[in-house]
Amino acid sequence: MTQVEVWNADETLLHRVSVRHAVRMIWRGVATPVEVHATERFGPYQVPVVVRLVRYVEQKWLYSRTRATYSREGVLLRDRHRCAYCGRVTATTMDHVLPRSRGGATSWANAVAACEPCNLRKGDRTPDEARMPLRWVPYVPTRVQLHFTRATTSNATELGKEPAR
Ligand SMILES: [Zn+2]
Repeated sequence: MTQVEVWNADETLLHRVSVRHAVRMIWRGVATPVEVHATERFGPYQVPVVVRLVRYVEQKWLYSRTRATYSREGVLLRDRHRCAYCGRVTATTMDHVLPRSRGGATSWANAVAACEPCNLRKGDRTPDEARMPLRWVPYVPTRVQLHFTRATTSNATELGKEPAR
């Protein structure tokens, strides 16, 4: 099957896609044809050989595995404001899984989003001691993951701005 080259806006080769996909990109206005077949047509379009993206896509950034810098707002964002203990989407606070008073670090791996009631109930105990098992294992997100979560979570910034306790 014929493949069409997709160039970034700076004319570097990104990847290859099907003719159908390339034509769809032209139709949507995200790419323009650079080179086309003289005779072959695909609907109203000449079959493209090469298309170029209209907007430059920062590849390094897009595919980077760069870890996000730790922040309290970031924890709420990573967990999409879902409380790690009860699962409700009402988390406005950040909880240290292993409490700081017990040597727990302030880090992605030891922080989860929690609603106020759960945070108060857990207090200075571990999830085991409090019999409040975590619903997921906290992880270190990449910058890109946080970016896309932010883009799809409308009230994230607002909630994240709440003063730290
Ligand atoms: Zn809760």
